[in-house]
Amino acid sequence: MAAQAPPTVEVALSEGKSVASPMRHSARKKLIRREDHDGSQRIRFAVQAAFLALNLWIGLQFYLFVRWAETGGQTAAVSRPSGVEGWLPIEGLMQFKYTLWSGQLPGLHPAAFFLFTAFALSSLLFRKSFCGWLCPVGTVSEYLWKLGRRLFGRNFSLPAWLDLPLRSLKYLLLSFFVYAISTMSAAAIAHFVASPYGLVVDVRMLNFFRFMGTATVLVLGILGVASLLVRNFWCRYLCPYGALMGLISLFSPLRIVRQKGACIDCAKCAKACPSALPVDKLVQIRSAECIGCLECVAVCPAKDALALQWMGSAGKRPVRGWQVAAGVGLIFFGLVGYAKLTNHWQTPLPQQVYLRLVPTANEQQHPMIGEHRE
Ligand code: SF4
Ligand code: SF4
Repeated sequence: MAAQAPPTVEVALSEGKSVASPMRHSARKKLIRREDHDGSQRIRFAVQAAFLALNLWIGLQFYLFVRWAETGGQTAAVSRPSGVEGWLPIEGLMQFKYTLWSGQLPGLHPAAFFLFTAFALSSLLFRKSFCGWLCPVGTVSEYLWKLGRRLFGRNFSLPAWLDLPLRSLKYLLLSFFVYAISTMSAAAIAHFVASPYGLVVDVRMLNFFRFMGTATVLVLGILGVASLLVRNFWCRYLCPYGALMGLISLFSPLRIVRQKGACIDCAKCAKACPSALPVDKLVQIRSAECIGCLECVAVCPAKDALALQWMGSAGKRPVRGWQVAAGVGLIFFGLVGYAKLTNHWQTPLPQQVYLRLVPTANEQQHPMIGEHRE
């Protein structure tokens, strides 16, 4: 019996509770228990919390700036934080196209370009890491489903016939935005951003949440309840930005790789996966839904069974959580630092313009994108 085996080797069946039926282990695989300490989730939670705190700080600063402009400069002067442009993903995509097409960095709202590029690069290199490591909405979603699991003892999954069509919603939303932007020339984008509407589009977004109507409160309430019940409800079904990051991540050189020989088929990885991917059944995870969170790797009990690895290096040195955090941090701070050092971060608008436009932000007319197409 296993009592005579070395301490790191146990009969897989002795895992007991996690094994539904001894028949699953047709080959009677042995568990070589991993001895390394996986700190990936602690690191990820810290990165998520830090980015959430940064966004709350930016939000507060932006609110104080808007109040200053709304009161005609009566409250304490606070400058507009350019980081708020990270909350304008559509504009980020527009500015990205503008830069590619014109060969020039945007003069107005350039931070939108740099933040979009940083998030897209992170997702390109480290799976959809923007969603799993940085996005504050993703972080709040994760807090909510974990709270829901505490409250109800579990999370719920939608049946496959509903899950699949709902998952396509975010791609439909994305294709709408991509189509609209694809019809705009670089000049049209520049015209849109420089219009009174484009200059205070961030203020309009803030006002949307400050002055919510009944329908908005109702929709947000439904989303909140759904997020308690279903893991990452918003990200999984509705977020077009996440959909775009997912499509980009399909070209990522990193992927979760499972070594069949070392795996004991306990299915702990699949159970832990917030994207409900069948990690225990696949050899590689290439899905656009994989957010590179490493939860599956963290719970895997078997030595060398599951790891994040560079393409073509299966079985070799795995990529650790701290390396993902360092890579994502390097991209983010590298691009933001470059933009700041080269004076491509702030929008160079006189305060007088904001004093005039911010109080009337909701009255500004959309410059009718169609008029500026080539
Ligand atoms: S496969 Fe692993 S890394 Fe990808 S989402 Fe699932 S748990 Fe996270
Ligand atoms: S890869 Fe998944 S199924 Fe295999 S041992 Fe690890 S957690 Fe269990």
